[in-house]
Amino acid sequence: MEVRPGLERLPSYTIDDGEWVIKLDANERPTPLPAPVQAAIMERLAGLSFNRYPDMAMRSLRQKIAAESGLTAENVLIGNGSSELLAALCYTFGGAGRGIVYPWPSFSMYGIYAKLADSVAVPVALGEDFGVDAAAVLAAAERDCTGLIILCNPNNPTGTVIPPAVIEKVVAAAPCPVVVDEAYYEFYGQSALPLLKQYANLIVVRTFSKAYGLAAARVGYLLASGEITSLVGRVLLPYHVNALSLAAAEAAYDLRQEFAPGIRQIIAERQRLADELSRLPGITVYPSATNFLLVKAVDAKRISAGLAACGIGIRDFSAAPGLAGCLRITVGTPEENDAVIEALAAITQGGAAQ
Ligand SMILES: *Cc1c(COP(=O)(O)O)cnc(C)c1O
Repeated sequence: MEVRPGLERLPSYTIDDGEWVIKLDANERPTPLPAPVQAAIMERLAGLSFNRYPDMAMRSLRQKIAAESGLTAENVLIGNGSSELLAALCYTFGGAGRGIVYPWPSFSMYGIYAKLADSVAVPVALGEDFGVDAAAVLAAAERDCTGLIILCNPNNPTGTVIPPAVIEKVVAAAPCPVVVDEAYYEFYGQSALPLLKQYANLIVVRTFSKAYGLAAARVGYLLASGEITSLVGRVLLPYHVNALSLAAAEAAYDLRQEFAPGIRQIIAERQRLADELSRLPGITVYPSATNFLLVKAVDAKRISAGLAACGIGIRDFSAAPGLAGCLRITVGTPEENDAVIEALAAITQGGAAQ
């Protein structure tokens, strides 16, 4: 079969989708939606006109998201997950021979979206303690006919943050648009968005999949200048967000204060989990501003296998470049975190401890 040239070089995104008793491998919200949110979504779905196409402009949700940040609907795009918007940005600003620059290790999909858009993926190595070197990012952007810079903040899978001054340095000097992927914004609390007033090349992307617990619905949003949103709008298909997901996202957004206690609990549990795990022999816990922890273990393979044997699924990055020995553990419910602490204590005491 003849396929599009270059298709054979595209990796396929496969994850080990195990049936875990305790699922801490995908940075999801660990519990069902808050009851009032669940009820509001069900009510909206009950009244949905399934025979009609969705609202193409998605104006209602765009207006609500815009109002929260003092923007207008023209500054907002909704996507089928923030993934769709990140891919759309690569289609909009990438293209044959053009570079897409991003610090690395980071979200594994950036390189795939870049290649999907026929662009050149240009990862720039993170420094000591996973720090982003603004000068190195800018130098790569100058060198590689760059169409887009992607900064993941806080960063997945390291959990670390890029200081506001470093983000501003990149945005201010970049020869191209800079997207800040704020998938974990709600667990961090700081955003690059205030810079939008000053820098028209800034783009912020967020998701309903993590703190808002709507991973099943696939909804994300993008905030940028009207010029950028209208450019990106050209590569999105009509009706790319289905009416069910749109209704769910709008119901969740209307009731977003309902998520605050859950987010506070994840942040508190993140600290407790970090404190407990860092006491274990042979384990280093990196600081995290997200709903997961990256840990480095002297015997990472044995630990992930030991957790799997306990029915606990985590993400093993120990063989990934730049992440030797690293495991990513999503913060779960207090009970799930207790189970992780107990299992890890047993595994690390069972040998290979230094
Ligand atoms: C989870 C995640 C996304 C994808 O979110 P969706 O909205 O579910 O597509 C994007 N970026 C990062 C860094 C993520 O961790």
